[in-house]
Amino acid sequence: MNTSIKLLTLAGVLCAALLTVNAADQKAPEGPKGGRLLEKTEPKAEFFVEKDHTVTITFYDAALKPVAVAAQTVTVIAEAKDAKKTVEFEKKGDVLVSKSKLPAGGGYNVIVQLKASAEARPQNFRFELDLHTCGGCKRAEYACTCHE
Ligand SMILES: [Zn+2]
Repeated sequence: MNTSIKLLTLAGVLCAALLTVNAADQKAPEGPKGGRLLEKTEPKAEFFVEKDHTVTITFYDAALKPVAVAAQTVTVIAEAKDAKKTVEFEKKGDVLVSKSKLPAGGGYNVIVQLKASAEARPQNFRFELDLHTCGGCKRAEYACTCHE
């Protein structure tokens, strides 16, 4: 490892430590279905993995009352170890449901691309799809609200 890489690694560790401290101050809002609320979405979008590994995206107003999907579109890119998979969504009633399933298991990164409308710039949300249950909040780790 050369010196510049060492410094970069050190900087990364310090950043992570600072982020952890900040996150501890503010508890993440809970997705009503038990999923992950995507930050800075309006209306709020919740990413929820169903038992059969399909994904449901539900939208909520500021008071977390469900609102029907409007012009939003979502694509999820699953970065599973053996195969990268793109999952498309379609409207079903008031929510968006995935047309195919996420790769089996978990522990890989997903990128959720949300467009508020056809013309809007996509918002990207990248996080690890950890499906284990958190001991603190009893939610799936990907939707954990503890920030331990
Ligand atoms: Zn938790």
